[in-house]
Amino acid sequence: MTIIDISMPIQTSMPVYKNRDEKRPIIQVVRDFVSGSVYESRLSIDMHTGTHIDAPLHMIEDGGDLAVYPKERWVSPCTVLDFTHVKDGITEKDLMQRDILSGEFLLLKTQNSFYEGFNPDFVYLERTGAEYLLETGIIGVGIDSLGIERSQPGHETHKTLLRERIMILEGLRLKEVTEGRYILIAAPLNIPGVEASPVRAFLIDRGFFNL
Ligand SMILES: [Zn+2]
Repeated sequence: MTIIDISMPIQTSMPVYKNRDEKRPIIQVVRDFVSGSVYESRLSIDMHTGTHIDAPLHMIEDGGDLAVYPKERWVSPCTVLDFTHVKDGITEKDLMQRDILSGEFLLLKTQNSFYEGFNPDFVYLERTGAEYLLETGIIGVGIDSLGIERSQPGHETHKTLLRERIMILEGLRLKEVTEGRYILIAAPLNIPGVEASPVRAFLIDRGFFNL
């Protein structure tokens, strides 16, 4: 079986959105073998740090938390498309030339995956691209940047997708992934009432399931 881990390691030195210190995780050792007989640590983390899922509540006041997504969404057929040639925003024009399957998750591989730090000019999904994706019938969209959009003051990309409960997966690492069809596993922590959650995300070769 081929399993590709497409999530970011959670560590103090990891890239965070706009290099903001409050987005940096704090991992604190609360007990160790010097002070006692067990080892325990505590994690304090912004829900949007690293690889994570956004729920509608992130952008829409009464949009709902992670529970709006059906559980089937945590394990989905998925297509990875290569957009490493795009320099700025991925638009309707870029997407309409590609095969995008209804009922599947779509992952956008861009040149972000080849950049280790936070790049303020990261490649993103532009509003017309998000609007086009609604017509395709996808169930979710993921990208290898810490935000699915930038330079759009009204957050149109997020709102267009979240209004229709299209799941957004951000902070993916797709450098080692080639374009193609996979099974995506990406499940949030079970935290009621919140607008996002860190996830561990994997792609699995469809051959393993004889699909
Ligand atoms: Zn987010």
